[in-house]
Amino acid sequence: MATAVEIPADTLALGGAADPAGAGRAAAAPFQPVLIDSDRCKGCGLCVAACPKGILALDETRVNVQGYHPVHLTNPELCTSDAHCARVCPDCVLVILARPRPAREASS
Ligand code: SF4
Repeated sequence: MATAVEIPADTLALGGAADPAGAGRAAAAPFQPVLIDSDRCKGCGLCVAACPKGILALDETRVNVQGYHPVHLTNPELCTSDAHCARVCPDCVLVILARPRPAREASS
């Protein structure tokens, strides 16, 4: 069963700008650069091997609806949103978000 992946309104997803001006940006939640549809993951590990930062791992403490250990992001702070992981995933499990840019100062 596929589950919906919710993209925060204040981020830029690859291929489209959700809120480029940053209006209405929430301040509290830490930025999550990789959205994972865990129940679609078959635990093949291709994305784990592809990540140049080594910050993806199979979560051996969890089993998804298909009976696999799904991938998880171990250190979101080190993610560069390069999307190597999303490109190699055969099941389109991963959505990569660009970090929100700081609001520009108005020029005088
Ligand atoms: S490549 Fe896709 S299916 Fe394979 S472990 Fe990564 S997210 Fe799961």
